[in-house]
Amino acid sequence: MDIGGLETVVANSAYVAARGSVDGNAAATMRDKKMRAKLKLPHITVCEHMKSTVDQSFEVMCIKMPIGKRLLQQYLESEDLLKTAGNLWKDIEDYSTAEEKDRAQKAQKMVNKYYDSASKNFCSFLEEKAISRVKEDHKNCRADLFKESEQQLLKHLENKALEGFKGSLYFLRYLQFKWLEAQSVTEEWFMDFRVLGKGGFGEVHACQMKATGKMYANKKLNKKRLKKRKGYEGAIVEKRILAKVHSRFIVTLAYAFQTKNDLCLVMTIMNGGDLRFHVYNVDEKNPGFNEERTCFYGAQIICGLEHLHQNRIIYRDLKPENVLLDDAGHVRISDLGLAIELKDGLNKTKGYAGTPGFMSPELLKNEEYDYCVDYFTLGVTLYELVAAKGPFRSRGEKVENKEVTRRILNDPVSYPDKFSANLKALCEALMEKDPAKRLGFKDNECMDLKNHVFFKTINWGRLEAGLLPPPFVPDPKMVYAKDIDDVGAFSTIKGVVLDEKDKEFYDDFSTGNIPIPWQDEMIETGVFGELNQWGPKGSTPNDLNP
Ligand code: ADP
Ligand code: MG
Ligand code: MG
Repeated sequence: MDIGGLETVVANSAYVAARGSVDGNAAATMRDKKMRAKLKLPHITVCEHMKSTVDQSFEVMCIKMPIGKRLLQQYLESEDLLKTAGNLWKDIEDYSTAEEKDRAQKAQKMVNKYYDSASKNFCSFLEEKAISRVKEDHKNCRADLFKESEQQLLKHLENKALEGFKGSLYFLRYLQFKWLEAQSVTEEWFMDFRVLGKGGFGEVHACQMKATGKMYANKKLNKKRLKKRKGYEGAIVEKRILAKVHSRFIVTLAYAFQTKNDLCLVMTIMNGGDLRFHVYNVDEKNPGFNEERTCFYGAQIICGLEHLHQNRIIYRDLKPENVLLDDAGHVRISDLGLAIELKDGLNKTKGYAGTPGFMSPELLKNEEYDYCVDYFTLGVTLYELVAAKGPFRSRGEKVENKEVTRRILNDPVSYPDKFSANLKALCEALMEKDPAKRLGFKDNECMDLKNHVFFKTINWGRLEAGLLPPPFVPDPKMVYAKDIDDVGAFSTIKGVVLDEKDKEFYDDFSTGNIPIPWQDEMIETGVFGELNQWGPKGSTPNDLNP
């Protein structure tokens, strides 16, 4: 074995060993004790001033923020008058992600406990109509059986619990966590492992947050290369969009910081490789997926697109290479460098962006376009997952972009015999040349698309909760990335000098912890539980945090 090969083997084994620690308990054993000790809650006097700066709206503090929600739920448990509402809340969450076979029993129990006026846990804050509807409907066991109740419950909590929560110790505890969250991050908090891939401006490495043990991917953008190739705008757009979206079907940004030479985006690590690799390189003699697998990935991609579109973001670069697999075999979309956010009041945009062979007719014709372009690329992607070739280009065919464009604008797509009638119908509806007739996003959701017969086996509620078992699970011992030598090096950048203006941009970019993923990390790795200790009744949030 040559030195390069040996380097890969050594780097792989360190990475595979660290990766074994991604889930909760094991992560604790991989922590760096010195760095873990630095994560501690401040004395309450240090963060009391934050009362006037943190967002205290119910929606943000108590629903969106994972630690805020936990603390509110603990507060509800501690208050006799609110306990029942807290329990109903937890039971509704449990019901909506339960397997269908368990729903009937859970629904019956909940009806007896909260909906029967004779029960001591009767929830009189629910409107009569909502109560009688649940009583009538509960045998149908629909996923959204308690949706109306949940809305009324949350309104009730906002009216009856928010003020009390803000006056409680649990809120002071929340401020302590928000203070900790706002501390700056530097490279000393992360340990780098092997390179996973190469981007336009730098390498992507596996890395580990030392204090919690959680594994991430660190996408580095070299400052000088960014400046030389005018990459600032793209970098800040990618960062801003990633920080804004929170979906299990899109890679999550957890930290943005800088080092002397690089801007760093620390994101969900996707250890299973990209779909392009799996279509072509895993079983080379028999490339392409069966329809069951395609259906599962397609459904997850749709959830990711729907979330982007609900946030007014057009992705523009969907293709198998940009869809990555995690350890369990779930997929997320990644590489939002070409995405664009629609400006307030505008519903269309313009501009040439995407990958040849995937771009839609309206974009190629330089017309104005909207979210529709992403459903065209979805059609091209699903086609390629099964056919193991693009609909407008054969594999290995040398063809100019101009010819590919001509085909997209004019030619009908032909389908291999192995396509089922349902898949063919779906691809045709997505690769519809007229954007107005194309299947996709309407009335702020993808209802028609989700109801297409090709997806009839998908339980969307369970899929969205991450509970459907994936059709393929990556081998935990395998590294789905190129050998280190084959990743390719960057040329050195000469003649670029960084000045004060550049520094200002880097500081803007380096906002540190992203609140929701940071709070999730604290909860998932057990650090929240370790820090959230309480003394005997009557004590303050400082009592167990000397
Ligand atoms: P660029 O925008 O510069 O093309 P990408 O975001 O596509 O950069 O990242 C480059 C490569 O790094 C990808 O092709 C992939 O191999 C790897 N990579 C990127 N993000 C992740 C991630 N979250 N987990 C694992 N590997 C990743
Ligand atoms: Mg890329
Ligand atoms: Mg990119």
